Amino acid sequence: MHELSLCMELIRVIEDQARHQPFRRVRTVRLVVGALAGVEIEALRFGFTVAAQGTLAESAVLEIEQPPGQAVCLDCGAVVEVRDREEPCPQCGGYFLRARGGTELRVVELEVE
Ligand SMILES: [Zn+2]
Repeated sequence: MHELSLCMELIRVIEDQARHQPFRRVRTVRLVVGALAGVEIEALRFGFTVAAQGTLAESAVLEIEQPPGQAVCLDCGAVVEVRDREEPCPQCGGYFLRARGGTELRVVELEVE
């Protein structure tokens, strides 16, 4: 499950930060996960619970923001908003969309104490 390895990476980043700026625990982790990042939110939440066990982030709340993705339709040339990779072009119904935005996954904020 690739969401789990993403979460383990995330925990590594958090523990790294704890070395520079000592804190006892992480209260909230705010993430931006683009709609086209290819990440399943439920799997991500589950992966985080697993990866955070026994770490500073064990009881952290995961807040996930999901901006819609942007894609260019290769059939009609329109720039459209899409929520997942399987969605057709809302202009022409074509399925040849190239993602332009919304593929990011990053930590926006860590609330620590
Ligand atoms: Zn189109």
